[in-house]
Amino acid sequence: MPESLFADANSSLEEARFAIFGVPFDGTSSFRSGSALAPDKIREASYNFETYMFEHGEDIESINYCDLGNLEEFDNVNRMVQGVEEFAGGIVKRGKIPIVLGGEHSLTAGVVKCFDDIGVIVLDAHLDFRDEYEGEKFSHCSTVRRVSDAIGVKNVVPIGVRSFSKEEEVDAEELGLRFISSYELSEKTTMHEALEMALRWIDKDRIYLSLDMDVIDPAFAPGISNPEPFGLTPLEIKKCINYLADRLVGFDIVEVSPPFDNGNTSALATRLVRETIMAIWKAQT
Ligand code: MN
Ligand code: MN
Repeated sequence: MPESLFADANSSLEEARFAIFGVPFDGTSSFRSGSALAPDKIREASYNFETYMFEHGEDIESINYCDLGNLEEFDNVNRMVQGVEEFAGGIVKRGKIPIVLGGEHSLTAGVVKCFDDIGVIVLDAHLDFRDEYEGEKFSHCSTVRRVSDAIGVKNVVPIGVRSFSKEEEVDAEELGLRFISSYELSEKTTMHEALEMALRWIDKDRIYLSLDMDVIDPAFAPGISNPEPFGLTPLEIKKCINYLADRLVGFDIVEVSPPFDNGNTSALATRLVRETIMAIWKAQT
C-alpha cells in the first residue's frame, strides 16, 4: 500500500488545517540508512488506528487535513533542504500547519526557515550541533546547528539528549546552546517542568516541534537510524506534544528506518503524528 495517503487525510488543501508531506531522503545517513522509506511506511501504519481518540473525546475524522504525498527524490542534501523550504513555505503562506514525514533529520533546517519569530524544540538523543559532518554542512548530524544559524541559538532547545562529541559540547558552551538531557528527565525533572524551562529560555509564543524518533528508547523504537540507549518513553513524547499543542506552528518526525523496524517504530511514529494533529486542533480551535 505504499501509494496510499495517510489515513483519514480526506480534506483538500484549501479546506485543510494541516498539510502532511513526505521527504524520502536519507543521503547523509551515517550509520543505518533507510529513512527514505519511512514516509510510506508511516502512511501504511496509519490504517491501524481507531479514528476515535477517547482520551481527547474527539474523532480525527472531524479534522480537516490533507496529505500532499512525497517530494521528489533529491540527489543532494542542499537541494533537498532547499526543496523542503520551498514546499513548506507554500503551506505556511496559505496559513496551514505543515506536518513533515522524514526522511532524515536534515530536512528540519528547510522547514524552520518558512516561519518568522519562532522557537524550536527538538526531541533528540543527539545534540546535532556539529558545524559539519563528512564535509556536509546540512548533514543530519548538524540539524540543531543549522536551525541555530537560522533563528538564533537562544531560540532552540534540544530535549532528551544523551550523546554528543566533545567538540559539540565545547561549541554549545561557547555559543550558548541550552539543552535538557535524558538523565535530567529521569532524575530531576518531569517532561512538564522541562518544557516550562525550555519555554522560559526561548520566550516565543510560537513553537515548532521536531521529533527525531531516536529520542525514544530503542526498546520502544528499534527501527531508527542511530539507536542510543537510555531514552524517553512514548508516553513522555505524548505528554510533550499535548503540553506544547496550543502554540505549535509545525511538526516533523524523522529518522525512522524501516529496514530495521519490526513495525512498532512506524506504528508509534504514526500514532504520534495523529496525536499531534488532534492535540493542536483541540488546543487551537
Ligand atoms: Mn537528529
Ligand atoms: Mn538523533
